[in-house]
Amino acid sequence: MRYFIWTEGCQMNAADSRRLARSLENLGYEPCAKIDDADVIVLNTCVVRQSAEDKAIGRLSSLKSLKREKPQLIINLMGCLVGVHGNPALQKRFPWVDVFSAPSDPQPLLDFLTNRLQAGQAEHWRQNIDLMLDEEFGVAVAGEQRAVSENLPVVLGCSHACAYCVIPLKRGRERSRDAQRILRDAATFAAQGVREIVLLGQIIDRYGLDLPGSPQLPQLLASLSEIPEIKRLRFLTSHPNWMSDELIASVAELPKVMPHIEVPIQAGDDGVLLAMRRGYTNQQYRELVAKLRERIPGVSIATDIIVGFPGETEAAFQKTYDLLADLRLDVAHLARYSPRPGTYSARELPDDVPAEEKMRRFRLLEDLQEGILRELNETFLGKHVPVLFEHRVKGRWYGRTPTNRIVFVDSEKDLTGQEYQVKIGWTGPWSLVGSLESSA
Ligand code: SAH
Repeated sequence: MRYFIWTEGCQMNAADSRRLARSLENLGYEPCAKIDDADVIVLNTCVVRQSAEDKAIGRLSSLKSLKREKPQLIINLMGCLVGVHGNPALQKRFPWVDVFSAPSDPQPLLDFLTNRLQAGQAEHWRQNIDLMLDEEFGVAVAGEQRAVSENLPVVLGCSHACAYCVIPLKRGRERSRDAQRILRDAATFAAQGVREIVLLGQIIDRYGLDLPGSPQLPQLLASLSEIPEIKRLRFLTSHPNWMSDELIASVAELPKVMPHIEVPIQAGDDGVLLAMRRGYTNQQYRELVAKLRERIPGVSIATDIIVGFPGETEAAFQKTYDLLADLRLDVAHLARYSPRPGTYSARELPDDVPAEEKMRRFRLLEDLQEGILRELNETFLGKHVPVLFEHRVKGRWYGRTPTNRIVFVDSEKDLTGQEYQVKIGWTGPWSLVGSLESSA
């Protein structure tokens, strides 16, 4: 029996898909490269912007004929297109889907598969599944290779309700996972060859605040630091209002926590920020960046920006442009505003920036940021940086610096999971190229 998982969207979805893949493999399913060869197809979907939703609907529609040819085919629709509350309209519209599951929930598919088995076999599987779900994201598959860097969801859902964002509606309220389970997952990861763990949450800084007596993010990072095989820890995404001084101090002080912060601004204009319900001003964001740079030497900072939010005038956009030009951040994830059904902004605010204008603003920021990155990366020329290597890409080894810059080197050695000092010999806006110096 073979499975195929198609994954769209964020790191959380990628982690959910991998967890589901491992559960399926523990049940005896094998992955296949072509969707046509699969007995079980999972579409793990994203609806954060209209373009993502369109892609998912396109995929889903294309499966109709495959299901007609192969009626025994099992199709599982998962993720944010379904949402935590389910979506009965989807069942009507896509009757060829067998199983619907919420984001981060492998259970409906696993239940469906076990219900199809003979009694004795089903009992065996069920025990297996209970075991696996207990192990959560650390589920092991015999002989299987883990990635050097794995994502680990620690806060599910979101309760913030930014005006534009559909995530709280689709992933449900904010829930921190139990710290003991996270540590168990991390230990399993470590035993499987993982060397870097990236903790995930919509507002990761809020980890533990919803669980009485729970460790919070700084303590969790400290506990994870004690796992010897884990060399590096990262976390995302931060929110400017929840980046406490204590958290900043633990990034500065814990050697395994990498100096890289993902903290979106979304817009540079205070009026737009207010309408977005972000809860801070341009000036407060600038002060946060200054504080991060002062307290975490060499820190790199990534941001997210949405252009063309309702009411964003040319002058308002210019504030975003100026902020990006002034702060010279290390990464800017750019998006054009897309009204999402059910959100405050889609309901109450007209989508009044024309598509071409959104594109023009997007391109202006893209060009600005490319120039900034070209210059920032040039400062690495001739420098020595510790790089954790992950895998080969087109014959060259791919790794990352502590500040999350991509580095390529040529080497005959197997560098998987190894950290080496690298001398940088070439730089561009998106990556660096270097040569191996010594084992770090
Ligand atoms: N929880 C994180 C990430 C949310 S989704 C945060 O606090 O920002 C990732 C990014 O998608 C967001 O940061 C935002 O820039 C973008 N995004 C979310 N909703 C959007 C929408 N309706 N239109 C365009 N971009 C959107």
